[in-house]
Amino acid sequence: KTRVFSGIQPTGNLHLGNYLGAIVNWVAMQDTHECLFCVVDMHAITMRHDPKQLAAQTRELTAALLASGIDPQRAILFHQSAVPMHAQLTWILSCVARVGWLDRMTQYKDKKGKDREGASVGLYTYPILMAADILGYRAQAVPVGEDQKQHLELARDIAIRFNQDFGGGEDFFPLPEPLIQGPATRVMSLRDGTAKMSKSDPSDMSRIAMTDDADAIMRKVKKAKTDADALPSEPAGLAGRPEAKNLVNIYAALAGKTDADVLKEFGGQGFGVFKPALGELAAETLAPVTARFRELKADKGALDRILREGAARADAIAAPILEETKRAVGFLRG
Ligand code: ATP
Ligand code: MG
Repeated sequence: KTRVFSGIQPTGNLHLGNYLGAIVNWVAMQDTHECLFCVVDMHAITMRHDPKQLAAQTRELTAALLASGIDPQRAILFHQSAVPMHAQLTWILSCVARVGWLDRMTQYKDKKGKDREGASVGLYTYPILMAADILGYRAQAVPVGEDQKQHLELARDIAIRFNQDFGGGEDFFPLPEPLIQGPATRVMSLRDGTAKMSKSDPSDMSRIAMTDDADAIMRKVKKAKTDADALPSEPAGLAGRPEAKNLVNIYAALAGKTDADVLKEFGGQGFGVFKPALGELAAETLAPVTARFRELKADKGALDRILREGAARADAIAAPILEETKRAVGFLRG
């Protein structure tokens, strides 16, 4: 089986983009791939965070993943800081990656905004930690949303350079393939059709959270930014209308249909008709997940046990690879 690694940050506000762009794919891969799914708490501290909340958010995200159908019997589910490889390999790979490569990363530019003094060094080196996450398990494929494509290319560049410099030109680290697939690979903000839906967007109205109830979902969808025109009857008519396109995409992803199908049904209708239909569909889809989430969240002991067992299994894969890596760069091993 192909080994896959994928991560998600416990930064709160888990949203429909994470669900449709990542989690739904993870659930579907559990039988066909050897899966490592990681709550990446080390990535979560690259932005200002509240230490009193991080552990709770780590458990919450774990509960949300379980509620969505991740099965710790079939996949390895764990949190990043519990496996020492991630930090250790990051250092070694930091000395392989080049400053110029990191300078080109758009996520860093977007997240730091204009505040270079306020951005952490960790935010800048984030993609190297991500490369360690993947290469440290010799994962062959990485299911991600569109936004992570550039980081994955960097991970491949780091693997190539490491293989050349220290791997004797062999595939010491296999080159990880991005798996950008599933119902929606880039869900956009409800407030701005040109920005992706994000946990870190300060506006709660920009996203449908996985824990929103039916009323909240309906309110957000009805308030979502749109133009005043009716929906076109074919996808070509969505060109230049990013907000309309996004809502149609979301509907299609939730319904398991194509944009064309959705427009066949709603073409000619205004948002006064389409938005309530979308809100209802989103609420219907998330309701069972939310209900399971609330139950699972209450049992901290069970969540901690699942994460602990997952971390032990992950470490059993990572530790020997890290050992080999240390030898490859020439560290004295007793
Ligand atoms: P943050 O704003 O804190 O970076 P995020 O919403 O980008 O949060 P991440 O934890 O960084 O979430 O990413 C988890 C997974 O969800 C990744 O695979 C990422 O590609 C995917 N993802 C994130 N946002 C979207 C989106 N809007 N559409 C589709 N996939 C997404
Ligand atoms: Mg992100």
